[in-house]
Amino acid sequence: YSPWCSLFKISKVVVVGDLYVGKTSLINRFCKDIFDRDYKATIGVDFEIERFEIAGVPYNLQIWDTAGQEKFKCIASAYYRGAEVIITVFDLADIQTLDHTKQWLEDALRENEPGSTFVFLVGTKKDLSDAACERIELDAVRLANEMQAEYWSVSAKTGENVKEFFSRVAALAFEQS
Ligand code: GDP
Ligand code: MG
Repeated sequence: YSPWCSLFKISKVVVVGDLYVGKTSLINRFCKDIFDRDYKATIGVDFEIERFEIAGVPYNLQIWDTAGQEKFKCIASAYYRGAEVIITVFDLADIQTLDHTKQWLEDALRENEPGSTFVFLVGTKKDLSDAACERIELDAVRLANEMQAEYWSVSAKTGENVKEFFSRVAALAFEQS
C-alpha cells in the first residue's frame, strides 16, 4: 500500500454477474446518480471510488466493474483478489442469471482468503417486477441463505434501494476494517 492509502482507508468491492444484468447501471446510479437507458458494454476494467464518512472517519469504497469479459467468463484473478465485499448480481426478470450466481461467487471466493469477504446477492431491475419476479425472489432468498449472503433487490432505473444498499455495504466493510 502507498502512504496515501494509509491516510484513507479503502475497501475493495467487486461486482460480478452475467452480462446485461445491470452491474454497470447499479454502480453508475450510486456513484453518479445517473441511469443510461442505452446499453453500452463497459470498456476496460474500471473502478469508481466513493467517499463516505462513518462515525467521523473518512472511508472509501473502491468499486470494481467488469468490462464485458463476463460474457466469456474470462475475468483476471487480479480482479477478484483482495476483495472485502463481493456483490453478486442477477436480473430479477431472468431466472437463468440467478442460476449462474453460484458459479460467479465460487470464482470470486477462490481468489480470496476464506472468511475474509462479505457476500451480497442482489436482484436488479426491480422496477420490472411482476409475478414471475416475485417467484424468482423467493428462490433468491433461499439461495442467499445457502451462499451465506445478504439479499437485496434494487432498481438502477428508479434508484429504489440503491443508496440504502451501498450504505449497508460501506457499514459492513467499515466494521471489518
Ligand atoms: P451489465 O452488463 O451487467 O453491466 O449491465 P448494464 O448495466 O449495462 O445494463 C444492461 C441493460 O439493462 C441496459 O439496457 C440497462 O439500461 C438495463 N438496466 C439496468 N438496470 C436496470 C434497471 O434497474 N431497470 C431496468 N428497467 N433496466 C435496467
Ligand atoms: Mg457492465
